[in-house]
Amino acid sequence: MGKIIVKKNLPEIKYDASIEDSKHISLSKKYDLFINGKNLKTKKYFKTINPATEEMLSEVAYADNKDVNKAVTSAKNAFNKHWKKTKPSDRGKYLFRIARIIQEKAREFSVIESMNGGKPIRESKSIDIPLAISHFFYYAGWADKLNYIKTNSKPEPLGVAGQIIPWNFPLLMAAWKIAPALACGNTVVIKSAETTPLTLYKLAEIIQEAEIPDGVVNIISGDGKTGSYLVDNSEVNKIAFTGSTEVGKHIMKSTAGSGKKLTLELGGKAANIIFEDAPVDAAIEGIINGIYFNQGHVCCAGSRLLVQENIADLVIKKLKSRMNYLRVGNPLDKNTDIGAINSKNQLKRITELVKSGVSEGAEIFQPQCTLPAKGFWFKPTFFSNVSQAHRIANEEIFGPVLSILTFRTPKEAIEKANNTFYGLSAGIWTSKGSKVFEVLKQIKAGVVWANTFNKFNPASPFGGFKESGFGREGGVHGLLPYLKD
Ligand code: NAP
Ligand code: MG
Repeated sequence: MGKIIVKKNLPEIKYDASIEDSKHISLSKKYDLFINGKNLKTKKYFKTINPATEEMLSEVAYADNKDVNKAVTSAKNAFNKHWKKTKPSDRGKYLFRIARIIQEKAREFSVIESMNGGKPIRESKSIDIPLAISHFFYYAGWADKLNYIKTNSKPEPLGVAGQIIPWNFPLLMAAWKIAPALACGNTVVIKSAETTPLTLYKLAEIIQEAEIPDGVVNIISGDGKTGSYLVDNSEVNKIAFTGSTEVGKHIMKSTAGSGKKLTLELGGKAANIIFEDAPVDAAIEGIINGIYFNQGHVCCAGSRLLVQENIADLVIKKLKSRMNYLRVGNPLDKNTDIGAINSKNQLKRITELVKSGVSEGAEIFQPQCTLPAKGFWFKPTFFSNVSQAHRIANEEIFGPVLSILTFRTPKEAIEKANNTFYGLSAGIWTSKGSKVFEVLKQIKAGVVWANTFNKFNPASPFGGFKESGFGREGGVHGLLPYLKD
């Protein structure tokens, strides 16, 4: 049984709360589906809550099979009647409009994203919403330049894209999917994740305000079953999915032989490798950002720290001291570093995996901090003395929990980094440029960051190898899955 070390008697630093104003946001009590440019009522509605308080925010429509069929028919009609005939430069103008209107309402989007998802307002304001906007701007620019992607080929859209997104970056994942699909001339039906439907319904309001032709973007909510109805609908020409490897595998099976084009962006267990010659203080910030950003609900999180053995004690000491200053609490407080866990289910999964780490003999560290009484919370945590056989070294925890392993040589670091079913991302920390190139060439991951972590840009392709999925989102690569081969 591992030992639990909780550091006590720290100098206490008091901060006054600086709560983001939420008076300016407007949320409806009830959200219908958004199909064919209109709000469509359904038989069933479900509650969506604030995970930091467990209070209900709104009720949202549950789309059953009939509703999904309506959404797909609406998208198909919109594709045939006007969107495929719309001039590429006009498609670009519509996308620019969406980007600009989100920009005008960025504060409202940020607050709602934090209230519905639990993420710190600092992050939704400076990362989620600006990145979503920049994806719409970026792909707006591509709409009339598709002829330049490949020589001697005429780019043609696929038709209806069915898009299924997770709860960790709701608006951003919607932008990653909707923007390239529309730029290429497809229409879409997008399903939000069960726990985070609200910013997508705010986006529906923007789609109307931007006067996007009816049916070009259809937004639905529901649960996993709703997602599977969309996957199984025979009028859908492409499925783009981001979520768990388990569901991704299931979708792969059910679309096999259907002629649907498929992209899967699944989980990860990224290695963040710290070499002995790394700038250690910068690396500490990179470790913190790598695993505690968005409560660790990040598919490319640096959840496996590989530290060169001779600096491991130093890194662990500095990490402990830095973690004592992380502030966990109200997502709407501008001082908050770590917000609420997205859902009760996710908290259960994190708790279970952390228990397995303790019982398998790894050593746990959690800083002293008081968690709010209501809502779903988990202290920032790391495990040292982790062996490669431990569950916490292999399974995606998707929470604020880091597993620390050590290595002696670059060769061993590479072997350990690649010793995973996943292959989404990795990080390398060293002061030697040559080492960066030598190591990154040998790491099987879609994105490798050097001396930084979790940096995103709409012009950079993002996606995985192995059980992290296939297909790329972002950049020119992100257009290809939405065009005929
Ligand atoms: P998930 O079940 O894979 O959910 C992702 C999306 O797929 C959601 O919109 C979900 O709908 C939908 N979905 C669920 N079952 C489906 C099915 N059979 N057919 C079509 N769509 C379906 O992920 P989760 O349960 O939210 O999270 C579980 C674990 O997955 C996490 O602990 C984490 O390890 C991993 N995860 C990875 C990512 C990523 O970005 N790669 C994102 C989220 C989760 P509902 O939300 O309505 O059920
Ligand atoms: Mg699920």
